[in-house]
Amino acid sequence: MAAYILHTDSCPQCQSMNLSLSRLRGWWERWVLARLKILPLRCMECKTRFYSSRRPLY
Ligand SMILES: [Zn+2]
Repeated sequence: MAAYILHTDSCPQCQSMNLSLSRLRGWWERWVLARLKILPLRCMECKTRFYSSRRPLY
């Protein structure tokens, strides 16, 4: 599965802004994401999972 780290709030595949927080996959992801201040997001349109350095949900 491809991983993306974006600086935008839209999906890299379809540019949708219909996103939701993706579930963290484990302690390592929680640790890394907290360090990097990025969030795992999932596009509700095409189901692409990616990371964003923005915090659109906060
Ligand atoms: Zn999408």
